Amino acid sequence: MRIAEVIVDITNSQVDKIFDYEIDEWGKVGMRVFVPFGNRIIQGFVINIKDNTTVEKSKLKKVISFVEDYVVIKEELIRLMHFMVKKYHLRYADCLRLFIPSEMRSDTIKPLFVSYVKINDKIDFQDYKKNIRANAKNQIALCNFLEQNILYKKTKLIEQFSRQTVKKLVDDNVLIESKETIYRQPDFNKIEKVSVVHTPLQNRAINTILSSNDTFLLFGVTGSGKTEVYMSVIEDVIKHGKTAIMLVPEISLTPQVLANFKARFGNEVAILHSGLSAGERFDEWQRILFNRAKIVVGARSAIFAPLENIGTIIIDEEHETSYISESNPRYNTFDIAKFRKDYNNCSLVLASATPSIDSFNKANCGEYKLIELPERVNGKKMPKIQIVDMLTELRNGNSGMFSSVLLNELDKCIKQKHQAMFFINRRGYSSFMRCMNCGYVAKCTDCDVSLVYHKSENKLKCHYCGKRYKALTKCPECGSESIRNGAIGTEQVVSKLKELYPNVNILRMDNDTTRTKNAYQKILTEFANSKPGILVGTQMIAKGHDFKDVTLVGIIDADQSLYHSDYKSTEKTFELITQMSGRAGRAKDEGIVILQTYAPRHYTYRFIANYDYKSFFIKELNLRKTTMFPPFTTILRLLFTAQVDETVREITKMCYNDIKKLRDDRLNDFVYLDVMKSPISKIKNKIRYQILARIKNENKDDIIEKIYDICDKYQNGKVSIFVEINPQNLS
Ligand code: ADP
Ligand code: ZN
Ligand code: ZN
Repeated sequence: MRIAEVIVDITNSQVDKIFDYEIDEWGKVGMRVFVPFGNRIIQGFVINIKDNTTVEKSKLKKVISFVEDYVVIKEELIRLMHFMVKKYHLRYADCLRLFIPSEMRSDTIKPLFVSYVKINDKIDFQDYKKNIRANAKNQIALCNFLEQNILYKKTKLIEQFSRQTVKKLVDDNVLIESKETIYRQPDFNKIEKVSVVHTPLQNRAINTILSSNDTFLLFGVTGSGKTEVYMSVIEDVIKHGKTAIMLVPEISLTPQVLANFKARFGNEVAILHSGLSAGERFDEWQRILFNRAKIVVGARSAIFAPLENIGTIIIDEEHETSYISESNPRYNTFDIAKFRKDYNNCSLVLASATPSIDSFNKANCGEYKLIELPERVNGKKMPKIQIVDMLTELRNGNSGMFSSVLLNELDKCIKQKHQAMFFINRRGYSSFMRCMNCGYVAKCTDCDVSLVYHKSENKLKCHYCGKRYKALTKCPECGSESIRNGAIGTEQVVSKLKELYPNVNILRMDNDTTRTKNAYQKILTEFANSKPGILVGTQMIAKGHDFKDVTLVGIIDADQSLYHSDYKSTEKTFELITQMSGRAGRAKDEGIVILQTYAPRHYTYRFIANYDYKSFFIKELNLRKTTMFPPFTTILRLLFTAQVDETVREITKMCYNDIKKLRDDRLNDFVYLDVMKSPISKIKNKIRYQILARIKNENKDDIIEKIYDICDKYQNGKVSIFVEINPQNLS
């Protein structure tokens, strides 16, 4: 007897188990099946096939049929599922859903076929022709036509000779039909393949990556030609009969990038991102599944592409937080990439101009191999970054949002018909409070992170420990009463600029202006054609873009992310401003960056202005060490959500008590533990509580395992518990 282990496609913790079904000889591991479940018939995934079962014979049910006649989840991904379930405590069904296009589950997308017809060579065609009635003109014409032509699209024949005629010949078994799949492919701009001569540094990088199956950190300044390195590595890998995955943050998957890859690799590339239509996504995925595409370029979820025999995995802009999935199913793309690297025994390349502290630390410790590209390919210097003290401006009577230096540079830029980019760094839903006289920003006395102002309660809160403080009315440092909660928005900046330059095209790009499909592209194209022109935007404009005529970058309020309530805020500030600066002076004209701040002496800005990532890294790492933050510790957040406040609170409390017991047994492993309402205490009517812990790294796996066990104990239908390890934000 053949027994299939099946995961039913329902995401409900109660049924997230492996069920045994009898399956016939056609069944293979990785196929989707229809199975009886309770009194329904539902879809499931076969994850294993075995010879026997402990289920009683009378209770054993049979697989009814197969959803497709091919394997949709290959061996490697089934193993990956087990890995993810164990590592992140996910449900099987949630994992499996990641591995196939969502359209497949709803059954709304089908492969597209085209029918061809040709003459059946098993019959005597001439004989048949002779016997056609003389008045059947169409039929004769069709036969004559077919004699000259071997294979024809059925629809074309129908157009020419009528449906009836074609049908008659098919019915008479003179014409036979064959079906071929058509792959719907996303549009892309067709451009010529460009051949460049690699710089010696690029060559060294390419050769190093190709020489071993290690994990590499490619640390290359903006414009150092990293993309060229990726493409050459991929080219070599393909030449050796292997496949490649390249991940790019969604926002950087611009038509330009895709066109470059298509120009170089043609149909060997499949593209997976959210801008595709359902049909395109399904077909691109099918091309990968059936080994027709060998290179996958895509956003985060492309890491699950069903490629086999992978030769390299490349993660561009590795510092991007979007590589961490923050909603169910939660996972970290690096873990998945590492798993696939090990499974395929291939290279893994993480690349960035501003690597995350964590990755650079790993390179520093030898866990990753460091490769550097410290110069721009065209020899252009990085643009000068000029720091402007906004408090001095204020004292000199300029209370506006633009410093005199910035206004000056902007004037020059516009007169020369160049382009400018103004960056407003606005994150999240709330902001810090700042003294406009001395620049003081309130911090948590326990955590040394900035406090977040919660307008609704008029309180300052620490997002790490939950401690609450009175909102400031007077500066504790200098006594001034000019306290502002410091957020400037893109809209404000645009309207101010329009007053100044009514005849210049000024565009805005942020979450509000890019809601509709293609809006993002439209704005970028319009900006590219506006000379002079100004683009005002949030982080969206900071990365990847290659506008040749941008000579001025204005960072309106650099401090916004510096004072975000997050131990990574300096790291993120360094990254954002460096990336943003990289947009200026990329082609022939030199660029300048004006960085406006209320804290001009902050070490982060000094390192940014000198393009000195390494010194920044050393300083930052030391700080993390003294304050016991990652990578020296691990932060755990357990998020509890449910409709009813009492229910969540109760479960959270019980869970907390258990963890507290664990902490008391293992005092040495815990740096911090507390329970609190989440900073955003309610989302979509669900009440949110959280337990925060910081634990030392030595025994973290063991502790995390125990904490998962505790969560499992309390996880029930009413409350959902999410465990996050080193979460990106704590809201
Ligand atoms: P990065 O990703 O490191 O910021 P890119 O890969 O976007 O840099 O390269 C910047 C520009 O330099 C691109 O227009 C690219 O075509 C070009 N380029 C890359 N390598 C070379 C080279 N060896 N010679 C000339 N131009 C190059
Ligand atoms: Zn003050
Ligand atoms: Zn605190």
